[in-house]
Amino acid sequence: MAKKRRYRGHFCKVCGSILPNEKFSGKGHAAHICKKCARKSKAQRSEEIIITRIYNALS
Ligand SMILES: [Zn+2]
Repeated sequence: MAKKRRYRGHFCKVCGSILPNEKFSGKGHAAHICKKCARKSKAQRSEEIIITRIYNALS
């Protein structure tokens, strides 16, 4: 059995938010990138992923 999740939905690794599944496209779902972040440029996405990672490490 899978671990019980505290939140419903899916984690976006770019903005660091847990969003409902409808906020993800099929491809974004596997990549952990929501539709909003998928529209950003690749450079901007990788920058935000780093910021999110640092933020998560500190909190
Ligand atoms: Zn996102």
